[in-house]
Order: sequence, then C-alpha cells, then structure tokens
Amino acid sequence: AKTAGKGQWQRFRPDLHVGMVERHELQAGLDNAISEEAFALRYQPIVEINGAAVTGFEALIRWPRRRGLVPPDQFISLAEETGHIMPLGAWVLERAASDVARWQREHPRTPPLCLNVNVSARQFIDPGFIEDVQRVVDTSGLASGSLVLEITESVLMRRDEQIRTAMRTLKRLGVSIAIDDFGTGFSSLSYLREFPIDVLKVDKSFIDDIVTDGQQVALVEGIVRIADILGLQVIAEGIENAGQRDLLGAMGCRFGQGYLFARPMTADEAQRLLSVTGDR
Ligand code: C2E
Ligand code: CA
Ligand code: CA
Ligand code: CA
Repeated sequence: AKTAGKGQWQRFRPDLHVGMVERHELQAGLDNAISEEAFALRYQPIVEINGAAVTGFEALIRWPRRRGLVPPDQFISLAEETGHIMPLGAWVLERAASDVARWQREHPRTPPLCLNVNVSARQFIDPGFIEDVQRVVDTSGLASGSLVLEITESVLMRRDEQIRTAMRTLKRLGVSIAIDDFGTGFSSLSYLREFPIDVLKVDKSFIDDIVTDGQQVALVEGIVRIADILGLQVIAEGIENAGQRDLLGAMGCRFGQGYLFARPMTADEAQRLLSVTGDR
C-alpha cells in the first residue's frame, strides 16, 4: 500500500486516508465550523455541450482550514457518521439557494438557471430533510422548478416507503431529482421507472477513456438512449478535453460538466461568468 500515492488513497478509500488523530481533529473542527458557519461553497457550471451555454450550477462544499481548502471527500462521510451532515446540508441548501436566486433575478432566462445540490443518503432519509427543503423553496426566492437534488443509487436501493413518500413530496414542491455518479452503484435499472427521477449524471469514470475505448462509448451511448426513452435528461460529468466533448455531443448527450468548460468557482466568479456570457 506504500506505493499507492496519497492521491490514489484519497480517491478510492477516503475513510482510510483519515487517520485516527486527524479524525479527532476533523470532528472537533466540524463542531466549531458548524456553529460558526465556517464552510464555503464553490459552484461548477453545468453547460450545454453544443455551444457551452451555462444552464446552471452545482454547489460543492469546501472547508477552509489553516492548510487550505479541505475537499468534501475528506469530511462528508465523517459528518454523516456524527450527524453533522444535517445542519451542514441545511446550510448548503440555504446558502446556495440564496446565491442562485440572486443570479436568476439578475439573469432571467427560460428555463431559469438550475441549482444542483448534493444530498447524502443519510441526509435524504432524515425526517427533518424535507422540512429543510420546503423552507428553502418557500423563502429563498429560487425560481420554481429550478432546484435539483443529486442523490446516489444507494438511496434508491433501500426501496422503502419512506423514500417514496419523500420523493413524492419533493415532486409536489417542484424539486427535481438527479442520480449522481450514475452507473457506479449496484442497483438495477428498474428503479428508473419505479422512482420519479428527472436527471442522470453519467459518472466521470465512464467519460475518462471514452475517446480511446469503444466499450465505454457503447455504454454511454446506451445510457443516453435509455434516458431518451424514459424522458430523462443526461449530464456527463468530468469532461476534460474537446475529444470527449465532441463525442458526447455527437451521441446526443445534451449537458455536461467538467474542467474543459469550467472548474468549481467562487460565487463572485460565477456571477462574473454570467455577466460576460450574457443572457439568452
Ligand atoms: P460529485 O457530486 O460527483 O462532484 C463532482 C466532483 O468532481 C467534484 O469534486 C468536482 O470538483 C469534480 N470535478 C468536476 N469536473 C471535473 C473534471 O473535469 N475533472 C476532475 N478530475 N474532477 C472534476 P469535489 O468538489 O471535491 O466533490 C467531491 C464529492 O463530494 C462530490 O462528488 C459529492 O459527492 C461530495 N459533495 C460535494 N459537496 C457536497 C455537499 O454539499 N453535500 C454532500 N452531501 N456531498 C457533497
Ligand atoms: Ca454531484
Ligand atoms: Ca458525480
Ligand atoms: Ca462523485
């Protein structure tokens, strides 16, 4: 394991990367950070693959510490274990909604800019979660129908009544549901019909080798076709080069995200981006 670089560990087993001491430090830090609202958000543009027009933003949490920004992979799972994820998640929702509501007012367009927010499994099944969403929908000024919650397949695998009820309530609130990291979970495709899902986010691991690997092309093409048949939107994640973009565009994948278009940016930078790209 010594030969595995730090980055690799982090990527595949974030739980292993956080040692015991650091874990205590993180937990104490989380306690303080939550009471002081010491977190920050970055926004990564979601774009139309053909033409690169910005259609919305995904909010991504950061934890500014002495040594820089701690990425979410290093504290989200801990926050889930400790229950910190609830106040943390509510803060993300509120903060992102108020930022994007402002951008929607300054840059009105049809459909309005969307806001995608990540929701962890533990957060989604908490009875208080729907109330948090309801409050944000009621008070943030966010354009109706513009909030998208990103959940992973692990939530759907539970297949219980509580999840169904939560999803129905979200639909009633005009909130859309996206499956994040689509294709990496262990669930079956039947849930795409079973649950009211609106968007599939094709995981970066499918996109990485798409230019050189014909099998990956076939898989992504298959996902795009399934989505088409079921009336779902597709967003390709982690597009880093023009070759990937052109291939995805050619196979009818309409939306994308990735460093090729833009990295996650501060709210100020996002606002500036909207000003220079103008309104449609
Ligand atoms: P995710 O939801 O799959 O988010 C995509 C991740 O890929 C982000 O990492 C983003 O910065 C990164 N990314 C985007 N485009 C590219 C690209 O072209 N190349 C590469 N190499 N990476 C790209 P980030 O911000 O570190 O977030 C990691 C994960 O942490 C997220 O994965 C999400 O699962 C979780 N997360 C982030 N914010 C929140 C949050 O507010 N709540 C919860 N529950 N989870 C969050
Ligand atoms: Ca996501
Ligand atoms: Ca993802
Ligand atoms: Ca991910």
